Amino acid sequence: MSESFDVVVVGAGPVGCVTAMSLAYKGAKVLLLEADPNGSRRLAGEWLHPPGLKVLQHLGVEKSISTLRASYANGLGFVVFPDDGTEPIQLNYPDNSLGFSCEHNTLVKLLREAVLAYPRIQFIPFARVTQIEHNKVIFENRVLEKTQSVISENIVGADGRSSTMRKLLGIQPKRHLISYMAGIFLENVTLPWEGFGHVFLGGLGPVLAYRIGCDQVRICLDVPVDCFKTSQNKAAFLWDAYSPILPSTLLPAFRYALENRPVAWCANHFSPRVHYGSKTLTLVGDATGCYHPITATGMTLGFQDAERLATSKTFAEFQRDRLLHTYVPELLTFSLYQVFTRLDYSAVAIRHAVYQIWRQYPSERYRTMRLLSGEETNVLYFISSFQQGLRIAVTQLIMEQISMGRGREVVSTLAAFREWIELPFKMVLSRISKN
Ligand SMILES: Cc1cc2nc3c(=O)[nH]c(=O)nc-3n(C[C@H](O)[C@H](O)[C@H](O)COP(=O)(O)OP(=O)(O)OC[C@H]3O[C@@H](n4cnc5c(N)ncnc54)[C@H](O)[C@@H]3O)c2cc1C
Repeated sequence: MSESFDVVVVGAGPVGCVTAMSLAYKGAKVLLLEADPNGSRRLAGEWLHPPGLKVLQHLGVEKSISTLRASYANGLGFVVFPDDGTEPIQLNYPDNSLGFSCEHNTLVKLLREAVLAYPRIQFIPFARVTQIEHNKVIFENRVLEKTQSVISENIVGADGRSSTMRKLLGIQPKRHLISYMAGIFLENVTLPWEGFGHVFLGGLGPVLAYRIGCDQVRICLDVPVDCFKTSQNKAAFLWDAYSPILPSTLLPAFRYALENRPVAWCANHFSPRVHYGSKTLTLVGDATGCYHPITATGMTLGFQDAERLATSKTFAEFQRDRLLHTYVPELLTFSLYQVFTRLDYSAVAIRHAVYQIWRQYPSERYRTMRLLSGEETNVLYFISSFQQGLRIAVTQLIMEQISMGRGREVVSTLAAFREWIELPFKMVLSRISKN
């Protein structure tokens, strides 16, 4: 290509689109390349926290989103259904802020349409980047059926968790398989708490349910790796394992979907966000790392990457900001998933302490939702909340043991909690050592 561009963005998933718009908004001339425009028809991010939505509002995408938002209730916060069968716990977003949810493909289409309205962005679909040679981006253009190249001083890799750009940088991604996710559409059902994301606990893994359209609800079932690998009839397995924890009003639609529609599967990986590339080839979104979807945080973090990249004066400033502000979301996702899924007695005690804290203290619900939405990324704020949960769990267990005349078990109880106490520090150390 003879035309020159200030920036080439590789990948037009949600984060690539927002990155292209954020840079163009700041005056850059941007080329956006997408290998497989139909790839967005898959199970992936559908829930956006308020700070993610704010980034879109700032870029002028709000109009198309508000039409969707007005047609069904969504984005109010979360309701957790405890595994002990006690009353659900409602966690509203703080300060009346609102999130948003819609089908992944709808969101990506909407963002690509918004991209086309930016005169400073040129979007080439069916363009797979295969090589970077210094500042030359080489790509296969499937529409023209030829290899093309373009020169740019700045390249941004927004090519997702299997990022080719990351590999070209020589970064070997450390990805840990956590579990599998089954995604199912339920049609014409009413959720117990319309407008909220539902988290059902007590199954083999947590189940998330939220509205993604006037007539459609998405449910995501977290399936342990072993169960995924060993179950022969997956639909029958999902019914047997998860129907006992779903509300009876959803069951007929759940059964119908399992019997009549294919289940969308994907793997849930953990890869810490420690690598952001370099000044000339910068990584954003899942190309930097990814977490379990339990906290629905991937797109919000990616949109914040895009915003910070466009507003940072140097790469070093961008990288510093992202390292600092993604540690708490990572820690929260990791610890919440452990607390919600593990069955050992320290995890069960913490889980029940968390329910108790949420029920008893509005200030803790507020604090949790500030952390979950990404409004608050101060690590001390997280640690003080986390330690309160630990304190309650340890105290209750020890009192229980003493009252049952098992005082000698106190030392082993304290030892069992050691890994939880050390968790935030271990994770920060592993980030430092990987960087
Ligand atoms: C089951 C599941 C549920 C999730 N739920 C949520 C949620 O509710 N909320 C949330 O915020 N996050 C959620 N996430 C995470 C979210 O999906 C990701 O964080 C988000 O999709 C990352 O966007 P991205 O643009 O960085 O990457 P991707 O969405 O992976 O997009 C990358 C794009 O780059 C293109 N590409 C790849 N290689 C090349 C190449 N060589 N040349 C050109 N183009 C290329 C791809 O075709 C793709 O379009 C979930 C993830 C999973 C797996």
